[in-house]
Amino acid sequence: MATRKRILITGAAGFLGSHLCDRFIKEDFHVIAMDNLITGDLRNIEHLFKLENFEFYNHDVSTFVYVSGELDYILHFASPASPIDYLKIPIQTLKVGSLGTHNLLGLAKHKNARMLIASTSEIYGDPSVNPQPEEYWGNVNTVGPRGVYDEAKRFQESITMAYHTFHGLETRIVRIFNTYGPRMRLNDGRVLPAFIGQAIRGEDLTVFGDGSQTRSFCYVDDLIEGIYRLLFSDYALPMNIGNPSEITIKEFGEEIIKLTGTSQKMVYKDLPTDDPKQRRPDITKARAILGWEPKVSREEGLKITYDYFKSLPQDVIEKVEH
Ligand code: NAD
Ligand code: UDP
Repeated sequence: MATRKRILITGAAGFLGSHLCDRFIKEDFHVIAMDNLITGDLRNIEHLFKLENFEFYNHDVSTFVYVSGELDYILHFASPASPIDYLKIPIQTLKVGSLGTHNLLGLAKHKNARMLIASTSEIYGDPSVNPQPEEYWGNVNTVGPRGVYDEAKRFQESITMAYHTFHGLETRIVRIFNTYGPRMRLNDGRVLPAFIGQAIRGEDLTVFGDGSQTRSFCYVDDLIEGIYRLLFSDYALPMNIGNPSEITIKEFGEEIIKLTGTSQKMVYKDLPTDDPKQRRPDITKARAILGWEPKVSREEGLKITYDYFKSLPQDVIEKVEH
């Protein structure tokens, strides 16, 4: 019997990490999952605990990381990802993007493993070009409230590239654009769970600013497929993965009102500091190099996600503390 390839996934109990665990289990990998549960939830992966090719470690990757035995791949997804999370825990956010990444690169070098890091469209800051190609250098306020996330991720890309060029480590960098789907936390403050949660609880939908800012939402299955292809490609420069279908937040609110059939309305609140005015991925490279493009329409993806949120226990739906 061929031995299974071994993969370490950090941030495994989170939204994207848990979907990655499912995918690599399905591909018959041995999955070593790591998470300190600061924004994650063990319920996202508890269905995997009984499997012999799945292990879980409750560990903070900003401290020393060690895994015994061989390791073929590392996916570094540990990091708070929602603006309200990283505003609440700014130092941990900076540490997991910098110290955590350094620890894992060291482990990858020691084990001769290929490492893929989760970067983000936030490295483009409040972009002055739209859509954003990978060559765009970004427009980030280093000392603004979002700077803790943006700069940690920019450093993460730089140190990963340095390990690639200086140590010859096999590395991959995915720049993820707004992704949604089942297992997002209803109270994580991101616009999709915020709007759907408000609709389910019979509250008005809170639009920040005048709602003219844009985002481009990618369904989680499409993203996971893009990451999977990037990992096994030979492309080491950063690659955008996201859905280029762009929409204003006000139009998005209207879509959620229609989907949920709520009789509530949209109410307008202050726009958070440095909130990007526009965001849309240029996915020319992903199309050409990975033969990848998103397949799930927003209508389809939103319906699946709404059904997931509706199926949650009532106390989870009611509990919103920011
Ligand atoms: P999430 O908050 O659901 O998951 C992050 C996970 O990392 C959580 O389970 C959390 O407990 C864990 N974690 C945080 N710090 C840790 C530490 N020091 N040690 C161990 N575990 C730690 O967020 P997500 O949406 O799943 O995002 C996952 C990754 O993808 C992040 O790196 C994020 O920056 C990136 N990303 C996500 C999106 C998106 O739209 N979801 C967009 C761009 C980038
Ligand atoms: N937003 C909103 N109402 C909310 C939450 C977010 O209007 O209750 C807006 C937010 O200001 C931003 C967009 O929706 O312009 C996307 O926010 P999110 O936090 O989901 O992610 P971001 O792309 O800003 O990281």
